[in-house]
Amino acid sequence: MTTLRLAIVGAGPAGIYAADIILKAERQFDVSIDLFEQLPAPYGLVRYGVAPDHPRIKGIITALRDVLDRGDIRIFGNVRYGVDITLDDLKKHYNAVIFSTGAIRDADLDIPGIDLEGSYGAADFVSWFDGHPDVPRTWPLEAQSVGVIGVGNVALDVSRILAKHADDLLPTEIPANVYEGLKASPVTDVHVFGRRGPAQVKFTPLELRELGEMNDVDMIVHDEDFDYDEASKTAIATNKQVFVIDKVLNQWRQRSVGEASRRLHLHFYAKPVRLEGTDGRVTGFTYERTRPDGAGGVEGTGELRTVELQALYRAVGYFGSPLDGIPFDEKRGVIPNHEGQVLDDSDHVVPGVYATGWIKRGPVGLIGHTKSDAMETVQHVLNDQANWWAPTSPSPESVDELLASRGVEYTDLEGWHRLDQHELALGEPEGRVRIKVVPRDEMVKVSRGE
Ligand SMILES: Cc1cc2nc3c(=O)[nH]c(=O)nc-3n(C[C@H](O)[C@H](O)[C@H](O)COP(=O)(O)OP(=O)(O)OC[C@H]3O[C@@H](n4cnc5c(N)ncnc54)[C@H](O)[C@@H]3O)c2cc1C
Repeated sequence: MTTLRLAIVGAGPAGIYAADIILKAERQFDVSIDLFEQLPAPYGLVRYGVAPDHPRIKGIITALRDVLDRGDIRIFGNVRYGVDITLDDLKKHYNAVIFSTGAIRDADLDIPGIDLEGSYGAADFVSWFDGHPDVPRTWPLEAQSVGVIGVGNVALDVSRILAKHADDLLPTEIPANVYEGLKASPVTDVHVFGRRGPAQVKFTPLELRELGEMNDVDMIVHDEDFDYDEASKTAIATNKQVFVIDKVLNQWRQRSVGEASRRLHLHFYAKPVRLEGTDGRVTGFTYERTRPDGAGGVEGTGELRTVELQALYRAVGYFGSPLDGIPFDEKRGVIPNHEGQVLDDSDHVVPGVYATGWIKRGPVGLIGHTKSDAMETVQHVLNDQANWWAPTSPSPESVDELLASRGVEYTDLEGWHRLDQHELALGEPEGRVRIKVVPRDEMVKVSRGE
């Protein structure tokens, strides 16, 4: 029987689901899968994006782990495509590759002052508080007043982590350096700015409601933001999600404030104009007040307002990174594809190369969406047998030999189990679910049992 030797690059949910789906699919051939991951730990943004105080979502890791623990997928951790392994290598050892490399960078926001000191990307901050090994250990939390641009769930995650008292995060898996950084933060006010109105936000009711449940943090909303136009009223009347968001916000309007030591301000109808600065450092944020345009959007009013602050985070979306030898859409930050079949500059299918997850369709959607996404891609892999590569060295051992010959300190599933146990053990004496190991060399050492 033919065997499909398949490489999958990226062990986030998209890559793991793709492997699972293909192994369970009805097919006329055997499948042998190697999953390459640049980090010594799998699970992508579930481990390094989802906020630490969202244990229910972090729990999806258990389902992903069950797939890996079945033992029919080999995992090569600490192996970066483009550095440790190349497209030519993959062609030599596999019939096809699926890229599921996600997105970890911030999308750009092109306004004056964005490069000032004190201006940060939300994705970088998320990587820091979730203990990603490739960002610095310390984060400059020196501002008393902080701004966050964006009205998606990532903006709310960032605002919540900034506003929450560090001790209230202690039961979670936050790394020690993150707790210490947040504990020392002098922040008193976090301002969230959204270009449109409450009926047009992108965040979900659950995430919004959570803000109002923070200990010792007042929620501040402004009456002027609730002067709805007809389109907003219709959205509230016809869309359950918008209805709940409006209800939550209106409950906050009735609350008495002033007791808490920290405040989280929500500013709607605030279109970013520029960051103000002195001596190269952020001192404020200027926005243009917008108003509903009657058609579900907004238009500028010409009125400029400035809020004094010392740090500003832009949570305006994630962006994928190009991969060596693989077509890339610079505008959208994705691999150009048709239903997961990678396309070249002339829109022709590139044989043997597929994409799934955020690198396929852009950084939107929940973890669950990566499953349906993977189904679509996998269907093409299964049906494309005529297009597969013909590897000259398809044996599984040849891949271990290649990595060993290059001195790559790769980790495997047993290594992940060791690291997982180690983190759980670190947390146990402190009554915490786990304490993440952050430095990459330490992760690798623990994984390799050195
Ligand atoms: C801050 C934040 C919070 C979120 N919260 C939620 C939530 O609460 N609920 C929810 O359902 N969804 C949430 N999401 C969305 C969810 O994380 C994504 O839908 C999902 O992770 C996308 O999966 P993916 O596998 O495509 O990408 P990723 O999860 O990014 O995985 C990609 C993997 O590829 C690896 N990789 C990248 N480049 C290479 C390379 N060159 N070589 C080898 N490996 C490589 C990466 O290290 C990573 O492990 C959140 C996202 C963010 C950013």
